[in-house]
Amino acid sequence: MVGGVTVAAGETRDLSIRASQSFSGADVSIPARVIRAAKAGPVVLLTGAVHGDELNGTGIIRDLLLHPPFELTAGTLVMAPVVNLLGFDRQSRYLPDRRDLNRSFPGSAEGSLTRRYAHAVFHQLVAPCDLIIDLHTGGGRRTNFPNVRANMADPEIAELARAFGSEIIFDHAGGSGTLRRTASERGIPTILLEGGEVLKVEPSIVEVGVRGVTNVLASLDMIAADPAEPLFRAEVDRSMWIRSDAGGMLRFHAGPGDLVAEGQPLASVSTLLGSLCGEVLAPAAGLVMGATTLPSVKPGDPILHLGMTREDDASIRWALDHIPEDSLYARLRRAFAESIVIEPPGSAADPA
Ligand SMILES: [Zn+2]
Repeated sequence: MVGGVTVAAGETRDLSIRASQSFSGADVSIPARVIRAAKAGPVVLLTGAVHGDELNGTGIIRDLLLHPPFELTAGTLVMAPVVNLLGFDRQSRYLPDRRDLNRSFPGSAEGSLTRRYAHAVFHQLVAPCDLIIDLHTGGGRRTNFPNVRANMADPEIAELARAFGSEIIFDHAGGSGTLRRTASERGIPTILLEGGEVLKVEPSIVEVGVRGVTNVLASLDMIAADPAEPLFRAEVDRSMWIRSDAGGMLRFHAGPGDLVAEGQPLASVSTLLGSLCGEVLAPAAGLVMGATTLPSVKPGDPILHLGMTREDDASIRWALDHIPEDSLYARLRRAFAESIVIEPPGSAADPA
């Protein structure tokens, strides 16, 4: 029973889960499609736009709804393309009371607007499910190279994360009050996809999401499909934002999806007239998992998000050196490079 509605075996139903009300008293109801196969199996929930401006998840679910690449043979698939409707309507990460839904779970029936909204989502949509894939993007003015975030200390969650088949898994329990951590702590293994940036539906991120969901459903024997293997598997257990010391115009020498060595130039900062005024070197080896989308920085502004891997970098380097040009990973790197321009270091103009 999802959203107070029982869906019979073999039935597909669209639900409307009441989560709040508008100023005018109209119901604010979350749309969700429930597809239940004839054969019993797990109940898998896909959630998009828990942050109301993170639309790649909404795009991933739209693709699954319009062009389902599989037929469900067992279990139940629940798809909620926009969880945070009040944020979505305002193109905002937050609810109208400026609180973060993804820090407010499991919520409460009597708290603030956001806590009540979280309570409705948690009890009607989340609690009836067995496994969750929560779809997110980078925050405002940042982009994330696709990575799965999961608490790898939990064997069930680790299995789910590996089944998704992302090249990069970020081992992290998740912040307090997040959907992922709260559901996981209540026995509903949850993983999160971070990919791309806000207010966009990016084709390569949609492809990552559809491939990952297909892989998970195949691993649970809910569909008949051969899982697509990632080109390599790297687990990141620490990460840091590399920040600028100087203000000015930014030029990248490495981009999302790249493996960088300690001391490698990552970015340069130039004055508005092109003179070099700062160089940013990698403080450690790692995989670039995210980047600012702004072309200029102030001192302290983040430039690149670097993840340190558990694996031997040599094996990742070998895989990256042999990636087929038409692979999804290669296309993802090109898609990011098209929007930020990655060039070799040392190409700043000399002062006139
Ligand atoms: Zn998010």
